[in-house]
Amino acid sequence: VKHIGHGLPDHDSLVARDARHVLHPWADLSTLGTQESLIIAEAHGIEVADSAGRTYLDAIGGMWCVTVGYGHPELVEAMAAQARKMAYFTPFGDVSSEPAARLAAMLADLTPGDLNRVQFTTGGSTAVESAVRIAHYYFASRGQAAKRHVLSRVNAYHGGTYLTASLSGKSADRTLFQYESDWVHHLESPGYDPDTSPVSAAERLDGLVAGMERAIAGIGAENIACFVAEPILASGGVLVPPPGYHEATLELCRRNDILYVSDEVVTGFGRLGHFFTSEAKFGVVPDMIVTAKGLTSGYQPLGAVIVSDRIAESLAANADRDKPVFSNGFTYSGHPVACATAVANIEVMRRDDVCGHVLDVGPYFIRRLRELRSSSIVAAVRGDHLMACVECHVPGEDGPTARNQALARRVDAYCEEAGLLVRPYENLCIMSPPLIITRGEVDRIVDIMADSLARAEHDLRTGAVQ
Ligand code: PLP
Repeated sequence: VKHIGHGLPDHDSLVARDARHVLHPWADLSTLGTQESLIIAEAHGIEVADSAGRTYLDAIGGMWCVTVGYGHPELVEAMAAQARKMAYFTPFGDVSSEPAARLAAMLADLTPGDLNRVQFTTGGSTAVESAVRIAHYYFASRGQAAKRHVLSRVNAYHGGTYLTASLSGKSADRTLFQYESDWVHHLESPGYDPDTSPVSAAERLDGLVAGMERAIAGIGAENIACFVAEPILASGGVLVPPPGYHEATLELCRRNDILYVSDEVVTGFGRLGHFFTSEAKFGVVPDMIVTAKGLTSGYQPLGAVIVSDRIAESLAANADRDKPVFSNGFTYSGHPVACATAVANIEVMRRDDVCGHVLDVGPYFIRRLRELRSSSIVAAVRGDHLMACVECHVPGEDGPTARNQALARRVDAYCEEAGLLVRPYENLCIMSPPLIITRGEVDRIVDIMADSLARAEHDLRTGAVQ
């Protein structure tokens, strides 16, 4: 057993330097300069340790991304070996690398239908953005440049670039930044929770489909390029659409010549028990699938959009004759070290049947978490396999109100105190542990959560949560 939690001798000065100089994604600006960040210094298996030497069970999986656990020797060796052999060379034009070529073929093999053409990117945002740009090029090259509007959903999360932030539909993230609104449209958030919904799944589905039909009619199908959708909305609060939603929306897209882009940045790479879920779990073969995060088990920044042969062939056949350059891509598209890591990750996941393990442990995780609904401050427990969230509330108060958020923060803080990291977001505790988690570790998560909920419930009763 490898021991972590040695701490760092300069812990205090690191916290101070971080507070003084780092601008963190999604940080609270009201604490800029005074925040005391948790500095994670070491990680092994499903545990991480901070710079003060405290260890935690990581129920966040880094950020939905660590699949085979931290410090996996084969991934680490693949990274090191590729760095020694050839750390980097340009991917532009007709230059490539061995890992990129190998990985592209593996992805073509793992994705459904004729999705065989891969553009590598630097992460999820750049992959989603590339998918939309490809949809734009596809229609413009066929003489349909007006088809450039994009359909997304309320509560979606697609990234942090200008376009992907515009596609994202979480109201909490809509701040003083600028967002594209002329040609980005948000359909209704599609979550359906049979425990709490007043309507049946069929009624909910009918309503969602009718809403999408109305939106298409309003914008005009002749103006819409693509629909971008996470199979299960992750950061929006682990929102699971009603059965049949994916097929119905794909069918609407097909009928209206709208490309269907499945954002599998979170749902892909085993989190729901399949390398890709679009077809395996939801019965749809999209026009493009976007992946990132678990692709390298989070060890390297890498994303990809996998495009159907039909679209790729059309791009080539209809390209601008005077200027047939595909002007989209990045310095680090197909980075050799990142691709070599992904190749090793896929080999390990296949050999160890990590997806099979998730299909076994995932339902147990959800079943055990659902026991927490007996707490009066739990409004809902949602999820699928290793993607879950516990929604907290002051009994009788719904949604992300200030009090509900304060309550959830308290639960998160008690979990952290007890050695468990869950991801706080509004009034939700989000969990997406590494896929190698055992039933015993699931029990530990549920025990700590139960204890933390009881402590927060007590605080609420005694007036300590305002
Ligand atoms: N799409 C989804 C569904 C995501 O959850 C995320 C990140 O959380 C992204 C895209 C953006 O990925 P990245 O942060 O790698 O750019």
